[in-house]
Amino acid sequence: MGDRGGGHGHAVVIGAGLAGLTAARALAGFMDRVTVIERDWLARGPGRRRGVPQARHTHGLTTTAHQGLEKLFPGIGHDLVRAGAVRVRVPEDMLLLGPAGWLPRFDAGLSLLSAGRDLIDWTVRDRLRADPKVTFLPRQEVVALEPGPQDTVTGVWVRGRDRTAPDGHTPRRLIAAEFVVDASGRASRAPEWLAELGYAPAPESLAAAGTTYATSLYAPPVGHVADFKSLLLMSTPDDPRQGMLHPVEGGRWSVTIGTGDGTPPPTDHTELLRAAAGLRHPLLHELVEAATPLGPVYSCRTVSRRRHYERLRRFPDQFLVLGDGLAALDPAHGHGMTLAVEYALVLDHLLTAHGTAVGIGHRLRRALAHRLDPAWRAGAPAPAAPTGLRARLGRRYASRIAAAATTDPSAAALLLHTHETLAPTAARPRALRLALAPWRAAAPTTPPSLTHGPEARRRRPAAPAAPAIGVSTGAGRPRPTGSSAHWPAPAPAGDRPRP
Ligand SMILES: Cc1cc2nc3c(=O)[nH]c(=O)nc-3n(C[C@H](O)[C@H](O)[C@H](O)COP(=O)(O)OP(=O)(O)OC[C@H]3O[C@@H](n4cnc5c(N)ncnc54)[C@H](O)[C@@H]3O)c2cc1C
Repeated sequence: MGDRGGGHGHAVVIGAGLAGLTAARALAGFMDRVTVIERDWLARGPGRRRGVPQARHTHGLTTTAHQGLEKLFPGIGHDLVRAGAVRVRVPEDMLLLGPAGWLPRFDAGLSLLSAGRDLIDWTVRDRLRADPKVTFLPRQEVVALEPGPQDTVTGVWVRGRDRTAPDGHTPRRLIAAEFVVDASGRASRAPEWLAELGYAPAPESLAAAGTTYATSLYAPPVGHVADFKSLLLMSTPDDPRQGMLHPVEGGRWSVTIGTGDGTPPPTDHTELLRAAAGLRHPLLHELVEAATPLGPVYSCRTVSRRRHYERLRRFPDQFLVLGDGLAALDPAHGHGMTLAVEYALVLDHLLTAHGTAVGIGHRLRRALAHRLDPAWRAGAPAPAAPTGLRARLGRRYASRIAAAATTDPSAAALLLHTHETLAPTAARPRALRLALAPWRAAAPTTPPSLTHGPEARRRRPAAPAAPAIGVSTGAGRPRPTGSSAHWPAPAPAGDRPRP
């Protein structure tokens, strides 16, 4: 994606999270220049930021997010891996306990780029910095929009921090712009800014139950050997708890437990271990118990909220809200970074087709809402979920696919693609056949691993564990995977990256 020329003035992007960075890249193809305004200090490295508190929790880039990022920043996958991100083939490199049992391990053409969120943002930010059209304005907070004639926005008001000033801030100043994108995340103040300009509030959808998450980083046990890289214990309709362990840069594990029903999350390592012991399978508990904590347990509560800006009759043109400010999905149900990348591609596509002509705002709001719809529907938890015959049949269909997925790789692939794209399980002939077929084998009760789980113990040689050469497919046919992970001994505490 290169410079499309044209030159359409100056664009401002509010927020340097993933939604802001990718939107800035899309805008840079059309505008003369783009300024990314960020409240935080932006370190030249994967530094922690106050403005992105969720960065302490496990983050992964799905195949869709990665492919979209490659369109915006060719070669970014390579950059991420070089910076320390770990590529996890799904489910080949992953032990995955699906809603109805363990999934077989096979090549589904999917992968997860697993890394600390700070590393992901920094790698993308670095690529954007190389674009001569893009300027970063860190430590500046946007506080208001500047209205223009006939429902337009002509800039933003910003202020910096000043400890010597009575209110702790520098005086406000105006930054003029022909196009403004609000990508300031869950804390977006667009509703207040628009209200100040006399616009009606956007209708909101709020998913009733919040989910709580607790996350910590660990050093794997010294000499740890496993034939998998990641572990995911998914929730079921009856048990909303879930647990995951993903490898991140520096040979560490990022471990997250989600309660799914809003109950208070674990806040220390003892509580986290207790919560891990209560999950659907003891493997996560076993792994975490043997590992060394590298920092505190961070917890957070999330709710799914969507603002329907597309439904407003009156809205400023040349102004757009995207990212978590448009819709923040519970990460158990939605991949916010995937959506952020897709929004940027929508922006790029529509700017290619229509430029920044009058009326573009309306088209963009509708197109973003259209992209978001299936993800939102898939993520709406129980109280908001539709009832009725059609919905009941849909759930029955999904549960049959989940059951078939434990023994049939095609059904597993379908389940995983659905989870990745957040679209309802499509009723294609192949899928219908899978859902209606009486399945032959019972779901395996042990993880498909030669190195872990009760099955593995029986097979494990008495000698010190060597890297395994294959995994069971769950159908009783072992085959090589080449996915063994021999975890290095953790570096001495002083050399470890700060969690
Ligand atoms: C627990 C948890 C786990 C998650 N895991 C995943 C995952 O595995 N995969 C995935 O795809 N997604 C995940 N997400 C979602 C993901 O974090 C977000 O969707 C993603 O960060 C995109 O957000 P954003 O860019 O819109 O906002 P953010 O990343 O929150 O960035 C917003 C930025 O705007 C800045 N800002 C705010 N207000 C202003 C202002 N007034 N002026 C200037 N700057 C401002 C902030 O400082 C911040 O830098 C997870 C979320 C949570 C809560």
